[in-house]
Amino acid sequence: MSPLSIRKLVSWFLDQKRSLPWRDVPHPYAVWVSEVMLQQTQVAVVVPYFERWMKRFPTIQALAEAPVDAVLKEWEGLGYYSRARHLHAGAQYVVHVHGGELPSTREALMKIKGLGEYTVGAILSFAFKKRAAAVDGNVLRVLARFENIEEPIDKPQTRQLITKRVEDFLPEKEPWIVSEALIELGATICGKKPKCVQCPLNTECKGYLKGVAEELPKRSPRRETIVLYRGVVVVECEGNLLVRKAEKGKIMADLYEFPYFDLIRDSFSQKECRERVVCEWGVEIEVIRRLENVQHTFTHHKAHLNPFHVESLQRFQLPGHRWVSFEEISQLPFSSGHRRVLTEIISGRVFCLPREV
Ligand code: SF4
Repeated sequence: MSPLSIRKLVSWFLDQKRSLPWRDVPHPYAVWVSEVMLQQTQVAVVVPYFERWMKRFPTIQALAEAPVDAVLKEWEGLGYYSRARHLHAGAQYVVHVHGGELPSTREALMKIKGLGEYTVGAILSFAFKKRAAAVDGNVLRVLARFENIEEPIDKPQTRQLITKRVEDFLPEKEPWIVSEALIELGATICGKKPKCVQCPLNTECKGYLKGVAEELPKRSPRRETIVLYRGVVVVECEGNLLVRKAEKGKIMADLYEFPYFDLIRDSFSQKECRERVVCEWGVEIEVIRRLENVQHTFTHHKAHLNPFHVESLQRFQLPGHRWVSFEEISQLPFSSGHRRVLTEIISGRVFCLPREV
């Protein structure tokens, strides 16, 4: 990128940049939290989460000392929960090894759990004002178009190539402004449908000049979505509900969920619900009502939840499960699919079935 384009980009950014809570006061911890939240999530969704998070865990120390359930609760709804778990483990590491202050070197930052090339680049650049490339999805898109790079941007080699290009043109003076301007350009002008006419880089952008901007960036073929069907059984007994914590190592690890049966199709009748409970748990239940079906997408899975609210006369024991009161359950972190089932239980909203299906 020529010095002229860099000047135009910086001038556009200083004039147009959005006011964001982590941008206005770029403390290293705030940059860390915001950058982790922004992975896979839109700015508009992140802002209220970020503000709540900083009130609840205002320092790395406060985050490190919080129980993992409280951390996941604040993250609830953002998805990709391993990000929250890593943030929590990373905070504990920073307290233990660095006395609660984020270090300012690439080598030390890379040792912190959950921090990858991009987040480390962002912390070095935005918080410590160093000359470091911060190449996220926005920058990959802008550079793939600007340089007319046809290799898929999800390949590590393409990311390395683009990172090298950015490092080459970052100026010595105030390089962090260029890093942030590239991200902002990707987020607001060079999005899925690029607004090239308004872009400060349009006189040099190869993708635009060749008329191929919208065909870039290229990606490798997508992984196939795995569809799951689940019959969820919300068992109530004397004002308590049966829940379990998803196992460690699974995608939803540490999040709570109701017990469920795997199904072979998207259908779960009252009869099947009763029969599977008797057969697989060895207990009798009474079906109170069918709840609204829920579809829940996570990573490359799509789960169809078919839930029933049922009652048991005794608090039976199931391995890995425990009974919790309504008061306690609202404090527990749930995956978003099971959270929607819980919300319906709490609101007492009845959807259908007065009869056997
Ligand atoms: S000219 Fe168009 S394609 Fe090129 S960087 Fe600007 S918005 Fe993106």
